[in-house]
Amino acid sequence: MTPEFDLIARYFTRPQQNTDLGIGDDAALITVPPGHQLAISADMLVAGTHFFADANPYGIGWKSLAVNVSDMAAMGAEARWATLAIALPEIKEAWLAEFSRGFFDCAERFGVSLIGGDTTRGPLTISVQIMGVVPQQLALTRSGAKAGDDIWVSGPLGTAALALAAMQGRYPLTPDTLAECSVALHQPQPRAALGLALRQIAHSAIDISDGLLADLGHILKASQLGADIRFADIPLSPITRQHVADTAVQGMVLAGGDDYELCFTASPAKRDQIAALGRQLGLSLAVIGQTRIQAGVDVYDADDTRLEIKKSGFDHFI
Ligand code: ADP
Ligand code: MG
Repeated sequence: MTPEFDLIARYFTRPQQNTDLGIGDDAALITVPPGHQLAISADMLVAGTHFFADANPYGIGWKSLAVNVSDMAAMGAEARWATLAIALPEIKEAWLAEFSRGFFDCAERFGVSLIGGDTTRGPLTISVQIMGVVPQQLALTRSGAKAGDDIWVSGPLGTAALALAAMQGRYPLTPDTLAECSVALHQPQPRAALGLALRQIAHSAIDISDGLLADLGHILKASQLGADIRFADIPLSPITRQHVADTAVQGMVLAGGDDYELCFTASPAKRDQIAALGRQLGLSLAVIGQTRIQAGVDVYDADDTRLEIKKSGFDHFI
């Protein structure tokens, strides 16, 4: 066997479910169940931009799939299949073993089969495409929000941004505190069960990858609405809460990326049902505000003063 095929066989080939023909041919074959739509999304992770090149490979493997599972959750789709295109500067067995362990731990946790991909030499880049299924008409989109909807988030928010800021020396945290926060950054837990449960409850949904205000902004733009947000109602981790008097930390909660929680809107009539769902799934779900007809977003502090918002999220081209 050539090294490339050997590598694919060793690190990227595991049993594949819901798959007619998996890894090994020119293309994989799958069957979409009758009455369902195929939901497709891709996310690319580039060393130096999305992770530190020397970061723990287990975490890189987990996260490269987890961020894609999160996109399926945000659509109300059930993640099923993934392809992995990976460029590697060199073949490091120990790195590949840990990367693959992280990737497949996430795959098993969320029921995803790796059914194909491409392996090539180049600057470390990982591109995962995910495919899922959703019953016709039930997908959650960004454009379905209605004026007067409750705006919900799963939480906590801001923990991953706090970890990143500490790792980059922009915010002081003790090593223990940083270790606790960095789990959110390296091993995000996509809200897959929540996404499925919201199918016939929520009007719109998005996952929070670039920051709450940026991602909520996508829902508002697509739905032609604005919003009022109460900062004090945003769910925080105990560590973030300890630091939240600091305006820099407030910025991380509102505009920091990488949380992979869900933001969704629903009629206030669904409040009890959604709260019960949060208890059932063990998630902290919170109503953080309401949509409105007037465009724009206002964020209010506990004493009803308006917070001044400078930066609404991470944008790769700014
Ligand atoms: P081709 O040259 O026809 O594109 P390849 O030689 O690139 O095929 O790949 C052989 C098989 O291995 C294909 O089924 C492909 O989908 C799969 N494959 C290649 N790289 C990966 C990877 N990183 N993860 C999973 N499957 C992969
Ligand atoms: Mg190929």
